[in-house]
Amino acid sequence: MAYITLNKNNFFNNLSIIAKLTKTKDKIALVLKDNAYGHGILEMAAMAKEYGITKAVVRNYAEAKQIEDFFEYILVLADVVKEPNKKIRYTINDIEAITQFAKGTKVELKVDTGMCRNGIMIHELEDAFSVIKEQGLELEAVFTHHSSADEDNKYFDLQNKNFKKVKEKASLLAKKHAFSPLRFHSCNSAALFRTQNFDEDIARIGIAAYGCLELENSLYAKRLQAVLSLYAKRISVRTVKKGECVGYGAAFTSELACKISNYDIGYGDGFLRSCSHHFITPDKIQIAGRISMDNSSFITDKKEILIFDDAKESAKFAATISYEVLTALKEKIERKII
Ligand SMILES: *Cc1c(COP(=O)(O)O)cnc(C)c1O
Repeated sequence: MAYITLNKNNFFNNLSIIAKLTKTKDKIALVLKDNAYGHGILEMAAMAKEYGITKAVVRNYAEAKQIEDFFEYILVLADVVKEPNKKIRYTINDIEAITQFAKGTKVELKVDTGMCRNGIMIHELEDAFSVIKEQGLELEAVFTHHSSADEDNKYFDLQNKNFKKVKEKASLLAKKHAFSPLRFHSCNSAALFRTQNFDEDIARIGIAAYGCLELENSLYAKRLQAVLSLYAKRISVRTVKKGECVGYGAAFTSELACKISNYDIGYGDGFLRSCSHHFITPDKIQIAGRISMDNSSFITDKKEILIFDDAKESAKFAATISYEVLTALKEKIERKII
């Protein structure tokens, strides 16, 4: 069966680079949403704990429960659960959501500083604090998310400016309502890597930890190493004559007599079908025609092949981003830590 390897040395290398930027491991909140970007949530949680990471970010309550034993702090980005929990913090994404949480629930308030996606508006801050107080929630942090930290446009600076104002206002409101001092966070991977002298309380780090952050002009980003590799095993091998066609749609025509093998990885496993026709493995093995649901053919007779060891490169063949290549990988694929 096709399988995934997770390289622990590479992961620890990445975490140590990230910890240099945050200045302490304690400020790293590892983003483990979507099965840890397809790596395997339990495998990555266990390795992160071994490294000394104490904080994690997930999408929903079910994911938080899966990793509860590995971390001291877990932030849920988008879910509403009525039961307060010692470790789990819930994100308030909308002013109307505040009253959905039960008294005593730990919450973090997301503020929209310009992405126009989730979070309350800046002008709603005062109201939000009042309603949070009335509802009896434990407000621990105020945070925001960047739309363009990995792109060169005006939004990164603009959102930083807006968040600076939010911090000042929120600190005063916290005092007024007698909340404990707030934590603030705004950085995802790209934002952390382009911030000089990081001074916030937490950074929410996904793609950099998995070794696939693409950020021009960042020497630190260049030292990150991809954690995940995908391998497939040969199902069958044949000699194809010149002019014979391979696979669905007879989409590949052999220009020469050659050995072509079929491997047990297909789009049903998450090997994106848009990689058909032109995909080449890191060992320079060429794909033959269309990717099928459960398999794909390559021009080689090897028993096992490395499909990719750097999702950034794979993404180019599919005209997408490493995030999509990675999260496409189905849970059923075996993960081995090496
Ligand atoms: C997914 C996500 C992150 C992590 O982003 P990376 O680019 O992978 O570091 C951080 N914060 C929020 C709110 C997210 O949704």
